[in-house]
Amino acid sequence: MSFRLGSAEVSDAAVSQTLITNGTVWTEGAFRRADILVDGISISAITAPGAAGEAPLARIDATGCAILPPFFNGHVHSSSTLFRGTENSYPLELWSLWAICYGRGSTAASITVALRLNAIEMIRAGIGGYIDHFPPAHFMDEALQVHRCSGLRVGFAPFFADLRDEDILDMPLDRTILEAHAQGPISNHDALRLRTERLAAMRDARITPLLGPNAPQRCSQPLLELWAELGARHDLGSHSHLLETYPQHRLAQARWPRGAVSELDRLGLLDGRTSLAHAIWLDDTARETLARRGATAIHNPLSNQMLGSGAMPVRTMLDAGVRLGLGTDCSNTAGRHDMFETMRQMLVSGRNPGTWHGGWIRADEALAAASQNGWSALGQGPARLAAGAPADLLILDFRSVTLAASAISPASIVSHGDPRAVRDLMVDGRWLLRDRQVTVFDEAAVIAEAERHAVDLRASSESGRASLKQLIGSYDDWTNKAFAGSAYLHCGRLHLSTRARVEGGDTT
Ligand SMILES: [Zn+2]
Repeated sequence: MSFRLGSAEVSDAAVSQTLITNGTVWTEGAFRRADILVDGISISAITAPGAAGEAPLARIDATGCAILPPFFNGHVHSSSTLFRGTENSYPLELWSLWAICYGRGSTAASITVALRLNAIEMIRAGIGGYIDHFPPAHFMDEALQVHRCSGLRVGFAPFFADLRDEDILDMPLDRTILEAHAQGPISNHDALRLRTERLAAMRDARITPLLGPNAPQRCSQPLLELWAELGARHDLGSHSHLLETYPQHRLAQARWPRGAVSELDRLGLLDGRTSLAHAIWLDDTARETLARRGATAIHNPLSNQMLGSGAMPVRTMLDAGVRLGLGTDCSNTAGRHDMFETMRQMLVSGRNPGTWHGGWIRADEALAAASQNGWSALGQGPARLAAGAPADLLILDFRSVTLAASAISPASIVSHGDPRAVRDLMVDGRWLLRDRQVTVFDEAAVIAEAERHAVDLRASSESGRASLKQLIGSYDDWTNKAFAGSAYLHCGRLHLSTRARVEGGDTT
């Protein structure tokens, strides 16, 4: 039996083989003209153009296209997809109350459609894998079902924590209002043991189970020790937030005099399968420790700026030898899951007036973070296109309007690329996007269903959100104290406590 695929007549025996011709391929650290032969779930060869001859293969023409490893999104909360367009104009500690409030109305059906929509957005943006740091851990089965169907590679890290920000940061917020509208579940240690055992058994070629502590400071000492115990027992890596805001940094200094990162290291929680999102408020010792242990820091530049969390010193991190990946965080913080936008944010970070241009971030460093190094968070090393590597590849159309007329290069992709240039995406030998068509879900049906559930979530949280506004005054009082003694160079409106000091002549 034979059938027609593309322009080639192929037989059943050859159907698992695909030849991608006439493309410009990122291989061995450079773009070069080459053909790629895919055999099943692996790349079997990268050859000179035309070297495969007229063998009876499925052929994909990539004329005018760049072919590179898919992007890896190193920090995502997939369940937030239906919170698009909602509150993102508060600092993290206040904003998170709104996020929890929206999430309280989630159902198995809404979580399922949220993750499908999230997967479609990722696929259309050329993202072949991501870490799903998943707050509603009780919907783990629904999430994993979607992740399996999506065809994406996923590091799945359901949340756990047993301490709350309002308590550990000493925030004088009305506990009755919080309890009614904005408190997530506290993890039961026995339940976490059982859940982790189930999760570890679900490992397969595309799903990598991970331990998903919300953040070290949100774990009691017994829970930190349980995190270490479960990682060792089930041979699991970890994904966590780390030192995202200044109040968290101050809290960590008080709780761990040698630093949060040193404490994680002492517990044996840092290795090549550890990834840490944000990692803004680190000192030199912490950076050196992360580099020495081979952990990956996930830079989330848009989320960091949207919530006023701080700015990662990207050049300092790279100089220290810390492996960097990129992430987009919640849909209701950074907006789109768009690695092109995130790469550009990394590219321009630190280009402040008077800084030496020779130390500015380069396009190849941003592209490496997005398409190669972030993949290390799954414990499989940087992604690459080479014979024997997994058949994961992204085809970018340089004849799309924003890339047309530019040479195929990292600089062109980082400065001018956007998801409209994403033509094809293959993961594990399967086309998830082919000729700009999503193959794994019915996109129109998912969008229609997502709209209905998002309307329900906004409606069900309406009274809760109104109640949360009563907390803003108390939050502002707290932040005046929390930020006392700090000062930042900025071009925004000063906070009350900072304004008082600056007007008094203290501009240190
Ligand atoms: Zn996050």
